[in-house]
Amino acid sequence: MFTSIAGRSVIVTGGSKGIGKGIARVFSRAGAKVLIAARNRAEAERAAKEMEGEVSAIKADVTDLASMQELAKTASERHGGIDVLCSNAGVFPSAKLEDMSAAQWDEVLDTNLKGTFLAIKACLPYMKKSDQGRVVLTSSITGPITGFPGWTHYGASKAGQLGFMRTAAMELSKYRITVNAVLPGNIVTEGLVGLGEDYLATMAASIPLKKLGDVEDIGYAALFLATKEAGYITGQTIVVDGGQTLPESLEAMQAV
Ligand code: NAP
Repeated sequence: MFTSIAGRSVIVTGGSKGIGKGIARVFSRAGAKVLIAARNRAEAERAAKEMEGEVSAIKADVTDLASMQELAKTASERHGGIDVLCSNAGVFPSAKLEDMSAAQWDEVLDTNLKGTFLAIKACLPYMKKSDQGRVVLTSSITGPITGFPGWTHYGASKAGQLGFMRTAAMELSKYRITVNAVLPGNIVTEGLVGLGEDYLATMAASIPLKKLGDVEDIGYAALFLATKEAGYITGQTIVVDGGQTLPESLEAMQAV
């Protein structure tokens, strides 16, 4: 039904683990040429090797413009240009507001928000030449919709991505590049599994669909936004959370 994305050049920042790895796997399975970027080269290369199709890896840091320019150049040289940027790399160290240092705040904002800007800035010269330029941000429900103690910096960065997205979508419309965001709820990643069965069961009980999301659930939403058929959608968000943000109270959830 959808026009194939096979052969398209796709970058996934933070593609070595978790959600980014799921996004990279979904795009590679659809036949795209995928470049995974992360700071840990060995992990990124291991992830690329696990996937079918044309997937490779590069060591890159989203907080560093020169590193993002190297990433964009490499993607263009390996894959003949850049069509899709999945700006997914992110960090979420927990710290309560009263204890948070300025350095902790900067680390989260530099990676999640400034990193989004730098990745797009570096890829733009190449994406302008694509006939299907797509930027897909991995934001979160935390910040744009909900709050979670310990994550003021994280929530600000994730809500900030959406403010950035709306004006970026307008500015890049002249190149027919769309800019959209996926807002994941609680997604099962290596890190979350480490928190144990009880934690996962409690989390699942607070979600109307009664289970945590899979990394590929985010990958499919990103893939849709990258299709030719999604070309008239820009500056928008897709919440992928199993209904987690729907209940207005504990009673509402218990009535499900
Ligand atoms: P994760 O498993 O910790 O993976 C994070 C990825 O980002 C890794 O590949 C990591 O590799 C990379 N990364 C971190 N800092 C980087 C930097 N400065 N430059 C380049 N790469 C960097 O995290 P995740 O749970 O999959 O989260 C991925 C995205 O989804 C984040 O933006 C997060 O905010 C968002 N999200 C996650 C959830 C969830 O339930 N998991 C929910 C909502 C939103 P290196 O450390 O090797 O660089």
